[in-house]
Amino acid sequence: MAATSEKHVFQAEVNEVLSLVVNSLYSHREVFLRELISNAADAIDQLSFRALTDHGLMGQDEELQIELVRDKDAGTLTIRDNGIGMSHDELIGNLGTIARSGSRKLAESLSADQKKDISLIGQFGVGFYSAFLVADSVRVISRKAGSDETWEWESAAKGDFEIRRGERETRGTELVLKLKDDAKEYLEEWPVRETVRKYSDYVRWPIRMEIEKTTGEGDEKETTTEWVALNAASALWTRNKGEIEDAQYQEFYKSLSHDWQDPLGWTHFRIEGTHELTGLLYIPTKAPFDLGDRKKSGVRLFVKRVFIMDDAQEIVPEWLRFMRGVVDSEDLPLNVSREILQKDATTRFIRKQVVGKSLTLLEELANEGETERDVDGEKQKVNRFEQFWSEFGRSLKEGVYHEFDSRERLAGLLRFRSTHDDELHGLADYVGRMTEDQKSIYYVTGDSLATAKSSPHIEALAKRGYEVLLMTDPIDEWVVDALREFDGKQFVSAAKGALDLPESEEEKKAKEEKEKALAPVLERLGKSLESNVKSVRVTDRLTDSPACLVSDGGGMSAHQERMLREAGHDVPEQQRILEVNPDHPVIQKLESMTDDDQFGEWSALLHDQALIAEGALPTDPGAFARRVAQLMTKA
Ligand code: ADP
Repeated sequence: MAATSEKHVFQAEVNEVLSLVVNSLYSHREVFLRELISNAADAIDQLSFRALTDHGLMGQDEELQIELVRDKDAGTLTIRDNGIGMSHDELIGNLGTIARSGSRKLAESLSADQKKDISLIGQFGVGFYSAFLVADSVRVISRKAGSDETWEWESAAKGDFEIRRGERETRGTELVLKLKDDAKEYLEEWPVRETVRKYSDYVRWPIRMEIEKTTGEGDEKETTTEWVALNAASALWTRNKGEIEDAQYQEFYKSLSHDWQDPLGWTHFRIEGTHELTGLLYIPTKAPFDLGDRKKSGVRLFVKRVFIMDDAQEIVPEWLRFMRGVVDSEDLPLNVSREILQKDATTRFIRKQVVGKSLTLLEELANEGETERDVDGEKQKVNRFEQFWSEFGRSLKEGVYHEFDSRERLAGLLRFRSTHDDELHGLADYVGRMTEDQKSIYYVTGDSLATAKSSPHIEALAKRGYEVLLMTDPIDEWVVDALREFDGKQFVSAAKGALDLPESEEEKKAKEEKEKALAPVLERLGKSLESNVKSVRVTDRLTDSPACLVSDGGGMSAHQERMLREAGHDVPEQQRILEVNPDHPVIQKLESMTDDDQFGEWSALLHDQALIAEGALPTDPGAFARRVAQLMTKA
């Protein structure tokens, strides 16, 4: 065996993460065992999956298991698996760098305060590095399945690690932790047993440890050792709901997702019949930092208890990518590949179940309202659905767009602010509050709640006592466009088309008369603003403001147009309709204005202030400022 060893320095970010882990997770350090066992179980999953098609990989070593070995003389705890193993290059790549660029960016961007927040740190997937919570130094001896070379990696977490040839005759990985003085309790049977039971009971491979047994009494007393299994080793999701405690569901979630926080909720279901399927799906409490990564799903696919793949996008639609958990199918073939998944009818069935059960869970949370729950050991009043909405509401909006079959259910889960009060409201609440003569669901868009709330477009609606939804998320307008209606009531934009508000005969008559009287002014305004507006008409939506701009019924709203332009799209300039308020003094003044120049200045101002009121810039800000100054001087 070559005595030479190679020295490598850790990638800078590794040092960063290492010190983060060691400093912030100190009081939770028993989790190192969960993390390392979970890595070992993943390695066995990988092996058993590969061995399905490459039978040679399994060899003689068929009993897949994780072993824990305590060596009191050496002061070491060893975690050993006969999983997939790591090659020379994998040892360097996996344990010397942080591969996921997202983790790296997160590590760089965290402030000192945030670094104390373990829930954030949990998002790194610190896994392996947690070994240094209890160990001064760590040796990793590994042989890749199918290879006859064993390599050893060793580090004391002081900025570098060494790689040399190692000794191990069979495939798999062995982590030898040289325990710190204050972590020597892990050389004892009970602390290890307790920790495994607490965190890793459901790990689907047996976790074994050698323990001492004393038999007989007095002189007959005899101490022997024997290997015992420390965990139940049955996949948690295969057990009956009634037998599983909340704490077990929560621990399972944490080991599966590497999250440090309890999940917000879960659904555990079994489907029997033509297709057989078990699923355990969780909603995290906080959005993971890489939620933006559309190609990632957090649901693992199993077939008859055999792990098949992470990130099973085929069975979880993109908009549900925040869900975590497992789906275990009895029907798919064990050697299922992504290509087969994409074509198999079972996949569509599974996907449908995942969507349906997730929606049912969300509906349950939405109906629950505020409840008292245990949060970090304290009873607190929480509204789980509102928590969910603030983290993942956007995903449901995406769902409306993409999940055609579930649109109605998704619409029932949407939440908006409205002119009713400052709370979030569902559409059913809104419809329940509609006044007798109100036909439609009204909404207005704006860059902020304040702009939306003070939009001139909603004046007449407010006067009639109609509630208006205030939409500030750029995708809201697309969502209601896609929905068209809710509970038989159409969505109507306060800034588009004619509002068609119910009018009494007298109101109708009065309006017609005003229109007639105002006709010459409308014509003059139309001419004066020819290059800016499509037409000018009398409004039925204003009560206090002199004028506003509206889009055609079928057209894009000004807000949508602006969003698209800001996102770099080439949107043709759309001319809109200027609506004027016949009862406003400014309009009445215009009627009697004879000076053409002055009329031109005033009409330009009228148009600009309509733009400003909806959060846009005047056509020519310089000219606008000059006109206002002139007006002020004259006053
Ligand atoms: P994560 O598990 O979040 O990817 P870790 O730091 O825990 O991050 O591990 C890094 C990588 O090292 C793993 O993704 C895996 O490829 C490899 N690894 C860790 N432990 C083992 C093991 N026992 N057997 C095989 N590979 C392992």
